[in-house]
Amino acid sequence: MEGLNNFDYCIFSADKVINNQSSIYFFNTLTRKKEIFKPLEEGKAKIYTCGPTVYDFAHIGNFRAFLFEDLLKRWLIQRGYKVTHVMNLTDIDDKTIKGSQKEGITLSQFTDFYVKAFFEDIKVLNIEPANFYPKATDQIPEIVTLIKTLMTKGVAYKGEDNSIYFSVSKFPDYGRLSKIKVNELKVGSRVNQDEYAKEDAQDFALWKAWTPEDGDTFWETELGKGRPGWHIECSAMSMKYLGETFDIHCGGVDNMFPHHENEIAQSEAATGKKFVNYWMHNEHLQVEGKKMSKSLGNFYTLRDLLVKGYDPIAIRYLLMTTHYRQQFNFTFESLEASKVAIERLRNFVRRLHEVEGGINTGKVSILSAKLEACFGGSMDDDLNIGVALSSLFDFIREINGLLDANLVSRQEAADVGGLMMRIDSVLGVIGRVEMEEALPGDIDTLVQKRENARKNKSWKEADAIRSQLKSMGIVLEDTAQGVRWHKKKA
Ligand SMILES: [Zn+2]
Repeated sequence: MEGLNNFDYCIFSADKVINNQSSIYFFNTLTRKKEIFKPLEEGKAKIYTCGPTVYDFAHIGNFRAFLFEDLLKRWLIQRGYKVTHVMNLTDIDDKTIKGSQKEGITLSQFTDFYVKAFFEDIKVLNIEPANFYPKATDQIPEIVTLIKTLMTKGVAYKGEDNSIYFSVSKFPDYGRLSKIKVNELKVGSRVNQDEYAKEDAQDFALWKAWTPEDGDTFWETELGKGRPGWHIECSAMSMKYLGETFDIHCGGVDNMFPHHENEIAQSEAATGKKFVNYWMHNEHLQVEGKKMSKSLGNFYTLRDLLVKGYDPIAIRYLLMTTHYRQQFNFTFESLEASKVAIERLRNFVRRLHEVEGGINTGKVSILSAKLEACFGGSMDDDLNIGVALSSLFDFIREINGLLDANLVSRQEAADVGGLMMRIDSVLGVIGRVEMEEALPGDIDTLVQKRENARKNKSWKEADAIRSQLKSMGIVLEDTAQGVRWHKKKA
């Protein structure tokens, strides 16, 4: 039938679903291959994602990672998995201590502010909350126990500065994730900072002995007076909530080394078991083709964009819809395009509600089955969101054609509406579409009111009415005969 060849690019997935052989594949950084997802426990997925370091507002690069993880989680749930998701909050590290001292307040006063801001941010981006948000400062006993185990096993030692270090040379698998060559390490030399580059790979701090720069941030423990290093926090928290081995660990590619490499070393050296089965990393984000940086003036937190008046759901859509393993170039033009795409989805759903009853030709159910197969098959293929969305917009175009020809029955429209809601439980961008139908009389009144406002040069009021009309799907047109309005098509 005409038009259906639009879906040719995903016939493969239609076959898979028809044969009920749908499986999810993920690109595993550990093996650098796409692998079929086999959870430890059937029907369950245990996920750990590195959370924010709460020393500042999260920026759009951070949110790219959090939105990729949100999509991953929503997709697993859509496919019937019971997901347990843990995201840590790093509230003790070099950066939070520095920040609190600079502001002259306690560490917890300083970090509480940014924790609260983080939760506000994820809410406006419609990110599904994790099951657990452990704070590093609440896990000191677990961290101490883990470090003691590593010392007992002979893979950690106390340096002459009284800090405790992980001995990289004692863990033969070191470098497996990031593919760093161990023999290039400066054996025996040590690094005390939380962040360092590959070329500085060396024994890293698990527990940092107190120094005057730490001020009143320290814990008196069996390991001495001090505080944990950043890397050990994630090992302790993930294993506490998810067990010694769990299914998926995510993060940005910049965390692969040293952070994730060190997490593997600490955890596996302590337990003797494999730490994580699937490692998934999202690529970097650029802004207008350049690395995002404060010095280039192209550094944006979510809040910077909201202040400029951008719609958070458009930001969500934009950050989520480039495949997570592709480098992503954030542009303001693409942010506008995202807004248009969301409006198209919402208008389509609105239009479905308006269907008064056309002829059922059987085409709608065929198209719907193709969309489900194509969208699902693409997402099963390492979250191939680009192809999934192409199939969605092709579907909308086809159905709109049938709607134009009055070839969609009320029941079919309701079924398509249900399908759109299922898809939106993955995308999270359509939401509850306002269905109250404006009567033409009301619109005429508003249009007239706006004309009067314009005559009186009340531009603010005129603009407000125009936005109100726009939200009702009404487009205004200035013609020689005066202003006219029409309903915007999906
Ligand atoms: Zn982490």
